[in-house]
Amino acid sequence: MTEFETDKRKWIFKSGWKGLCPRCGKGPMFKSWLKISDTCDVCELDYRFASPDDGPAFFSLCFVAFPLLFLVVWIQVAFEISVFALILIAVPLMSIGCVLPLRPIKGWLVASQYVNRSMEAGTEKLWAQMHEREDEAEREKEGN
Ligand SMILES: [Zn+2]
Repeated sequence: MTEFETDKRKWIFKSGWKGLCPRCGKGPMFKSWLKISDTCDVCELDYRFASPDDGPAFFSLCFVAFPLLFLVVWIQVAFEISVFALILIAVPLMSIGCVLPLRPIKGWLVASQYVNRSMEAGTEKLWAQMHEREDEAEREKEGN
């Protein structure tokens, strides 16, 4: 892996985990718990490209729900607790465990989409407009 790719991954992880704009790293990415902002308050990045769809739910299910389920089954088998006690432990553990990671996962996916310029079919024009402005800014920097 090149140094550039490592930096890219760190940036995706950092901005996604903190829910910050993947372009400037300052403005908030979310306007509510899981709702993505329309544009960045700081750099005016247009978030119309962001479409993580079922991604956060899928990753939460695979990497959090399944391990938690095994933990719950292990607790039941190892301690032979009553069904009532099992429900008292399992329901909050599974609900909180699956809902809490949704936001960082969604942030990570949106940041990853932005950094890797991954686009959904039909959004080519939007991407061209977004990066046209960035390329223009870079040309201006180089000119000075
Ligand atoms: Zn921004």
